[in-house]
Amino acid sequence: QEQLSDRINNLATSQTLAMAAKARELKAEGKDIIGLSLGEPDFNTPDFIKEAAIQAINDNYNSYTPVDGYVELKDAIINKFKRDNDLTYDRSQIVVSTGAKQSLANAAMVILNPGDEVILPCPYWVSYAEIVKLAEGVPVEVPTTVDTDFKMTPEQLEAAITPKTKMIWYSSPCNPSGMVYSKEELRALADVLVKYPNIIVVSDEIYEHINFVGDHASMAQFEDMYDRVITVNGVSKAFAMTGWRIGYIGAPAWIARACNKMQGQITSGANCIAQRAVITALEAPVSKIDYMVDTFKKRRKLIIDLLNEIEGFKTTEPEGAFYVFPNVSYFFGKTIKGHKIENATDFSLFLLEEALVATVTGDAFGNPDCIRISYAASEAQIEEALKRIKKVLAEA
Ligand code: PLP
Repeated sequence: QEQLSDRINNLATSQTLAMAAKARELKAEGKDIIGLSLGEPDFNTPDFIKEAAIQAINDNYNSYTPVDGYVELKDAIINKFKRDNDLTYDRSQIVVSTGAKQSLANAAMVILNPGDEVILPCPYWVSYAEIVKLAEGVPVEVPTTVDTDFKMTPEQLEAAITPKTKMIWYSSPCNPSGMVYSKEELRALADVLVKYPNIIVVSDEIYEHINFVGDHASMAQFEDMYDRVITVNGVSKAFAMTGWRIGYIGAPAWIARACNKMQGQITSGANCIAQRAVITALEAPVSKIDYMVDTFKKRRKLIIDLLNEIEGFKTTEPEGAFYVFPNVSYFFGKTIKGHKIENATDFSLFLLEEALVATVTGDAFGNPDCIRISYAASEAQIEEALKRIKKVLAEA
């Protein structure tokens, strides 16, 4: 164990996965845990995509693929970017990776030198800060609160910029807050960034289709930003394909080339069968996944209505993704059923142990006052979970 590197010793364990592991442990002890901690659609991958994968196996797609993805897949991605986002990329600007997570890791590894700063509006997705640290960058957190719908203002962005700022990373729709930046809000952030031409933007759009408020906007749609935006996307969330591990970027060609070089030494490219299946997924009309988005919309209403019935949860109406991120600071300093609640981590553990409901502490996302509750679960599970939470908190 002493031989382990500082790099791995200093890396935080993913708290969403840690919470899921703890919930599994309790389940193994026979406890009836309701898991609302994972960011994973509870649907099956649609049949038309599964069939494409089976076909690919039978067609003997078994060799190494081009490191940056099959050209047919790149073309499907190019068409998708044009169709859904009005973004024009050519093949030299697309890199397919082993999940959007690897796309993000590539971006950090190819852009950051030790000590370079990366602005992360909080709350941000758990892995951002750790990926940045792995690449020896320095995360610079910009806090936002429930009162501003968890949106970073242009003033906050400008105040966070220093001569060392190399990148800014955000997701919209946001995991964990569900916040969605409108085109006007992105433009206002872009107006700050145009003054600092060396800052590269990572726009994580993996929840693009799970949007309840209307049009999805991309930072790269602005002509004066296009040359320095890495648009990250993938199929995990939209197509219920988390385990298939395919993500991709559209980026300036020099960045795409660097990402290609990076993964050429690390993975040799993404899985061949999954890549073939994703061609079919991306070529299908977006309406094929409407049923999932409609279901998430119903569940969103259900969970917000139920949360609003419980005193102490202060929540926004999430505009996208499948999470609510209530502020629970009302409970800090209270002792409930013998548990002293000092912070969101205590509260989340309390819910797990007493209500048998797994959530994730906001600390994992750079926000210590909130917890994240995923509503990628059935209506029955959501109703039962909130009933249990209400019951244990009645003793607060
Ligand atoms: N970006 C965000 C905001 C996410 O929530 C996730 C998954 O939870 C990812 C990226 C990673 O997705 P993938 O499964 O494609 O690696």
